[in-house]
Amino acid sequence: MGLFDRLVIAGLPLVPRRVLWTVARRYVAGQSLDEALARITALRAEGFDTILDILGEGESSEAQARAAAASYHELLAPLAPVDPHCTIAVKPTHLGLLHSEDLCAELLAELCVAAAAAQRFVRFEMEDAPTIDGTLRVFETVREQHSNLGCVLQSRLFRTGSDLERLLTRFPDLNVRLVKGIYLEPASIAHTDHAAITRAYLELADRLLESDGHVGLATHDDEIVAHTQATIRRLELDAPPQHERRHEYQLLMGVRKPLAEQLRDAGHRVRIYVPFGADWHAYTLRRLKYNPEIARHVMRAVLRGD
Ligand SMILES: Cc1cc2nc3c(=O)[nH]c(=O)nc-3n(C[C@H](O)[C@H](O)[C@H](O)COP(=O)(O)OP(=O)(O)OC[C@H]3O[C@@H](n4cnc5c(N)ncnc54)[C@H](O)[C@@H]3O)c2cc1C
Repeated sequence: MGLFDRLVIAGLPLVPRRVLWTVARRYVAGQSLDEALARITALRAEGFDTILDILGEGESSEAQARAAAASYHELLAPLAPVDPHCTIAVKPTHLGLLHSEDLCAELLAELCVAAAAAQRFVRFEMEDAPTIDGTLRVFETVREQHSNLGCVLQSRLFRTGSDLERLLTRFPDLNVRLVKGIYLEPASIAHTDHAAITRAYLELADRLLESDGHVGLATHDDEIVAHTQATIRRLELDAPPQHERRHEYQLLMGVRKPLAEQLRDAGHRVRIYVPFGADWHAYTLRRLKYNPEIARHVMRAVLRGD
């Protein structure tokens, strides 16, 4: 990335929310649950499964964490008639991890119970490195009782191979979303080079595809897609009907839709991540950091005074 793009990205937090919202709409379904449900309905009509996420992170008080949990409980009933296959995703710090691991585990367990009653799967997401030990402790505690819970592992981190082996030993039918990791971590604990992060991803993906676990291959990277498709063919994992397979591809709303369509047309299950909510600001800034071209449009609009 050139100096100009780095300057543009550094300036993004100063962009007025009104201007940022015009581009946020590409990555965020809307601010209300109704808008998210409409997006899920449209994606379903196109043959995609979905993941519903309420935007929010870094909640540090008990009241905020309980309010976030309540919002998740409230979406289960309206989601029922819209899509039986949509899963729900929640960030650990949205459920109070920074306040207390016990509180977070209590709220996550309650959510798993309600989700299981509605036949829903819950994905406990992964955030930056300082939260990982706590996230995995909460996940392992709650997963012991609730098999409709899955985790996320990041190939960027050196520790992930051993975390995966421990988790697979404890939960052979573990359900993992595998990602590169969006948070830029220091070189002492993580690969910082794109090629090394991708190599680590490919090794972890093969390990998961060969295991008895389930894997969501969450990526928009052509090299990873080509490699994992070859592994899937080699292991004949695409022989069973789609709903019995233990793998799927996952992509973000607003990112590389043609790739999602290509995977769907090749017969893969493809799940699109649909985030919504009032707390869209931090999420949108993270997405734009990946997309200097759109970030430049945003800055031009600001300079024009749009
Ligand atoms: C469904 C899903 C859930 C995720 N959950 C988590 C999580 O819980 N924790 C976590 O740390 N990370 C999460 N991530 C983010 C992930 O860690 C990566 O940062 C992100 O997917 C980019 O990596 P990539 O594998 O797509 O490869 P990259 O090499 O980063 O991207 C490949 C190509 O995809 C395109 N692309 C990627 N991102 C964008 C974008 N924002 N805008 C436009 N084009 C883009 C570009 O063309 C790029 O060249 C998630 C990603 C997905 C798809």
